Amino acid sequence: MLKKIFAAILVICAVTLCGCNSVSENSGGKLKIVTTIFPAYDFARNVFGDTAEITMLLKPGMESHSYDPSAKDIVKIDDCDLFIYNGGESDVWVENILNSTENVNSLKMTDAVEMLNEEYTEGMTEHEEIGENTEEYDEHVWTSPKNAVLIMESILDKAKEISPENAEIFEKNANSYIEKINLLDKDFAELFEGEERFFVFGDRFPLLYFFKEYGLNYYAAFPGCGSETEPSAQTISFLTKKLNEEDTIKTVFYIELSNHKLADNLAEECGIAAEEFHTCHNITALDFEAGESYVSLMKRNYDMLKAAVE
Ligand SMILES: [Zn+2]
Repeated sequence: MLKKIFAAILVICAVTLCGCNSVSENSGGKLKIVTTIFPAYDFARNVFGDTAEITMLLKPGMESHSYDPSAKDIVKIDDCDLFIYNGGESDVWVENILNSTENVNSLKMTDAVEMLNEEYTEGMTEHEEIGENTEEYDEHVWTSPKNAVLIMESILDKAKEISPENAEIFEKNANSYIEKINLLDKDFAELFEGEERFFVFGDRFPLLYFFKEYGLNYYAAFPGCGSETEPSAQTISFLTKKLNEEDTIKTVFYIELSNHKLADNLAEECGIAAEEFHTCHNITALDFEAGESYVSLMKRNYDMLKAAVE
C-alpha cells in the first residue's frame, strides 16, 4: 500500500515536472528507450543498436526487488519512445505509473511468453505469505533462452512499429542476436540431454524457466527470488543430506549478487565447490562496464555447468 501511495505521489511530481523540464537530455535525434531490468536493457540494445539511446533504470549491482522509481525515472518513462518492463509482482509500481500517465508506449516482456506458477520443492524455506495459499506466477521468464528469443521477437515487432524507417536495421540486429541465443539453447540442450541428477541451490531460485526448458531437477533453499530470509534448520539439513546422495550434482549453486553464505557453508560441509549461476536478473557494475550481455553471461553459465556436470 505504501508503495502504491509513493508511486502515486511520484506520478503527480513527474507530471508537474514535465511541464518545465521538457527533454532535459539531448538524445541526438535517437529514439529514447527506457528499460527496467538488465534482460530488457540487453534485448533492447540488440534490437535498436545505434538508433536508440537506451536507459536501464535498475542500476548495476542493485537488488532487483527493492527498486523504487525516482521522480526523475518517471519523467524518463513519460518522455520515452518505448518503455520495456518485465511484468509480475515486482513491477506493480509500473502498472501504477502506466495507469496514471498518458500515451506511454510500453512493452511487457511477460506478455511475449507463457508464464509458469512459482514452484515449491521439498526442503524449501517458504516465503511467509505462502500460508494464504495464493498461486503466484514466477516472473523470471527470460532465464529460458527460448523465451529470450520470443521476447526479442516481440521487441523487434514493436521497434518496427515505432520506427518503420529503421525496420531493416532492427531485423538485422535482432536476427544476429537471436541466432546467438539459439546456438546457446542448442548447446544447453545437448549438455543436459538425459541429465536426471538434481542441482542443489543454497540460495533463492529464479531459474524455473531455465530448468523446465531442459527438464532438469533441482532443490533450492527458497523459491523464486523474494527478499533474502534465513534458511530454516530443516532446509539446511535437507540440502546437506541431498548433496551427499548419489543423484545430485556435486556442486552447490548460488545466484549473482547474493551473499552466498548458505551455499558456501553447504559446500564446505560437503567438501565440494560453490559456483555462481547467473540468472541475468541484474549485473555487477564490473560486468556491466565490461560489456557483458545475456549471451555472454549465459555462456559463462554454460562453461561452469559443463564442468559441474562432468
Ligand atoms: Zn526476481
